[in-house]
Amino acid sequence: MNTQVATKHTAYDVALENFEMAADALELSEDMRAMIKYPERILIVNVPVRMDTGEIKRFEGYRVQHNTARGPAKGGIRYHPEVTLDEVKALAMWMAWKCAVVNIPYGGGKGGVTCNPKEFSAGELERLTRRYAVGILPLIGPTQDIPAPDVYTNPQVMAWIMDTYSMVKKEGYPVPGVVTGKPLSVGGSHGRHEATGRGVVHTLEASCEHLRLRLKGAKVVVQGFGNAGSISALLLDSHQSLVIAVNDSRGGVYNKDGLDIPKLMMHKERTGSVVGFPGSEAISSDDLLALECDVLIPAALENAVTGENARGVKTKVVAEAANGPLTPEADAILEDKGVFLIPDILCNAGGVTVSYFEWVQNEQHMSWDVYEVQNRLERVMKVAFTEVVNLHVDRKVSMRLAANMLGMGRVAETTAVRGLYP
Ligand code: NAD
Repeated sequence: MNTQVATKHTAYDVALENFEMAADALELSEDMRAMIKYPERILIVNVPVRMDTGEIKRFEGYRVQHNTARGPAKGGIRYHPEVTLDEVKALAMWMAWKCAVVNIPYGGGKGGVTCNPKEFSAGELERLTRRYAVGILPLIGPTQDIPAPDVYTNPQVMAWIMDTYSMVKKEGYPVPGVVTGKPLSVGGSHGRHEATGRGVVHTLEASCEHLRLRLKGAKVVVQGFGNAGSISALLLDSHQSLVIAVNDSRGGVYNKDGLDIPKLMMHKERTGSVVGFPGSEAISSDDLLALECDVLIPAALENAVTGENARGVKTKVVAEAANGPLTPEADAILEDKGVFLIPDILCNAGGVTVSYFEWVQNEQHMSWDVYEVQNRLERVMKVAFTEVVNLHVDRKVSMRLAANMLGMGRVAETTAVRGLYP
């Protein structure tokens, strides 16, 4: 799944191709395209880190703000060996449309460091994070650009960024609103940890209602068992769906009668992987994506389903918990097969929605209980789903195009009303 080598499409190519399709459908002028198609700001930073051995290693980090017409840039930070500037640009663009789809007052941004955090000690991870945070300090801030966790970053990483920002910019006085997805003890929100998975399940519930399918008893396959994938699996398990296969970067596990997800999560916590889970068979990544099921949830990285393997996919619904897991060729093939797609900028928007709630609580110095967070999240996700599905039905366009039209249309509208400065 190397986004640069294994397919001819990089994530950014996919983002641009989907942009043009939606811009055509919206009949956006060339002037408007010139204003919203390209990143507003890109920062590349050198991140030298003192390793435990005493040597200094350098890493490269990025922060991209795609668009801030509707509000501060918002988007996660990814630590992964395959992070490239192009990937971060794609992810930042998708964040802009995503925040507009769920109608929250944010623009889109994203950050990343090309590194393998699995090889770091806790000290190395902290030093890398603080140095990267100092590098992107000119861009971030509660009214400018608000990072959050993404692949291989977590609440602890967010706490280090919040602390670094507070130390350098405010002489140590805490500024919790500079990042979201923080631990509760530094101003995190109840419900943020499971928000992405919960949002995935709300869009699945709404899709099942739309398609007259039942989630209870539905066979589910999940690719990627991190925050987004494992919580989606856990919540679906509690809806009595049968999660028959999951995988992570080390391998996959399968049980035709359904995996015991709470136990599998404990196994992953203990061993670092789903591999070797008692009572399951091993399954390769290719075989997992080709399993017969009702719901397939790609929850890992971009370009998981491409023109090469899409014909083998045998599912009724694809719920994109990951960002950009399907290429445009895969979209076309799955649409021909009658697969119902819940596109990423709708499906996984629960994470940024509760990040928004966290930021609102920080800015108001308030704390909501988990029920308030969950109820508000459900309302936002169901409204966004209805708006996208209505466009899909009324305009007879794919769900991907409908979501892009809704998100990009809102960004274009704000841009037109604000006008061009100077
Ligand atoms: P994570 O770091 O918690 O988990 C990533 C998971 O993917 C791990 O289990 C890892 O082993 C697995 N993985 C990596 N390479 C794989 C491969 N080739 N095949 C199968 N599994 C593989 O990350 P996450 O936060 O769950 O993010 C996953 C996806 O969800 C990303 O596309 C991310 O942008 C998207 N997303 C996350 C959030 C969030 O709130 N965390 C919100 C919206 C979207």
